[in-house]
Amino acid sequence: MTELNLIAGEWMAGDTAIENRNPSDLTDVIGLFAQASADQLSATLDRARNAQLEWAAYGLERKQAVLMSIGTELMSRAEELGRLLSREEGKPFAEGKGEVYRAGQFFTYYAAECLRQIGENADSVREGVEIDVRREPVGVVAVISPWNFPTATAAWKIAPALCYGNAVVWKPANLTPASAVALTEIIARQDIPKGLFSLVMGSGGAIGQRLVESPQVDAISFTGSVPVGKGIAAAAIQNLTKVQMEMGSKNALAVMDDADLDLAVSLALGGAFGGTGQKCTASSRLVVHAAIHDAFVEKLVAGAKALKVGHALEEGTQMGPVVSEQQLQENLAYVELGQSEGAELACGGQRLELQHDGYYMSPGVFVNTNNTMRINREEMFAPLTSVIKVNSYDEALAIVNDTNFGLTSGIVTQNLARATHFRRHARTGVVTVNLPTAGTDYHVPFGGRGESSYGPREQGKAAAEFYTTVKTAYISAGTPI
Ligand code: NDP
Repeated sequence: MTELNLIAGEWMAGDTAIENRNPSDLTDVIGLFAQASADQLSATLDRARNAQLEWAAYGLERKQAVLMSIGTELMSRAEELGRLLSREEGKPFAEGKGEVYRAGQFFTYYAAECLRQIGENADSVREGVEIDVRREPVGVVAVISPWNFPTATAAWKIAPALCYGNAVVWKPANLTPASAVALTEIIARQDIPKGLFSLVMGSGGAIGQRLVESPQVDAISFTGSVPVGKGIAAAAIQNLTKVQMEMGSKNALAVMDDADLDLAVSLALGGAFGGTGQKCTASSRLVVHAAIHDAFVEKLVAGAKALKVGHALEEGTQMGPVVSEQQLQENLAYVELGQSEGAELACGGQRLELQHDGYYMSPGVFVNTNNTMRINREEMFAPLTSVIKVNSYDEALAIVNDTNFGLTSGIVTQNLARATHFRRHARTGVVTVNLPTAGTDYHVPFGGRGESSYGPREQGKAAAEFYTTVKTAYISAGTPI
């Protein structure tokens, strides 16, 4: 049976379908997934405009109830949907379950935000005139999400889009369609206007490109790679469509000579290899003070070697497979590139043949690297990390900031002055102290600088900036008679 798209409020097959297989076990076929046609995309965009107006006119509590219901269902089904997510994406079950639960929290957070949309008022500089400033929905929002957090990333875009009164047309990554169908089934069952929410599965180059080129789209929220993001921005500018983009990164964790060594190693291991390193917040550069370097590397390599790589749904698995054969080949090419640049591969970085046929790779650690190497400048999205040795805090900070990206950075230190200085001077959108570079909250802004982000921040109250447009009203009430 083919899983369908949600087009203008109806579940529909497409002209074609793709097969989705479990990266932990290639004999496990998860299903067939419809690919939306150009006509279906047009039909759903036509319907979305009216549905948005109906939705925006719903009472606040009615909208709140919809978001709350989606959120509580996701949380209560976190185990079941987390299993499905891990089966198609490859992250260990605990991470899949945690992701679905977190996705639910985005909806319950924005359910509450439905009732907290409070504007501003002012007196005019003109006598007898009052000013009312409020936010209105931006309109029809295209959500384009990646495979690495198929449910959470989509949720942190869809929940605020709906909260602030918009219609959503969602193009999920074609590598993770099952999680997209599961979330869409929950949303489609709610008290929403027909066609308010659409699912258009299909390839990025085909249906994604059509979506971002459409003049019927008022705003595009995208998470993915830098080249695709730049292409989307170029398409969007033709229609002056608002864009928000989260893209690549090259996050650094600075480990100082006064750090708690065991804490630093565990932060580095979790940050580098959690989600098989396929996170935009992964710790891919470990900038380590010379005084602690050798001890740190010894423990890091021992820890990486001890990580149990295996089937995402098997008990005891600490790192699942990478998502696809293409991603695995790119990762292995980076291993070769790093060595050809003069980096020393201290462990891992090899394809693994395990009991099940899947895209397995051992976690790899490069040492003796410098910050000019391509492995330290390009996003690898792989279970690979590099150690860069430095002689001082100042040198560490300079290296952390020497990148085209700027999403997250972290410092491990027990020195308050260094922690404070780092927090103030690291040029990233998120900075952490004695915490992993990965792992953020849902009620505060998320985003980066440089090539990592473009447009307004996501999450928390900051999301209103993207999903709404501001109206300034001038009122002259006159004199009472
Ligand atoms: P992409 O940037 O290609 O894909 C992200 C999303 O954009 C997917 O839904 C994709 O669809 C869609 N897309 C692709 N091309 C277009 C287009 N022309 N118009 C509109 N939408 C499009 O990322 P990949 O999945 O190919 O991963 C490649 C690399 O990107 C990774 O190795 C990593 O470096 C980076 N990446 C970063 C992420 C992050 O969180 N910062 C997340 C994912 C990837 P589809 O996949 O269905 O073709």
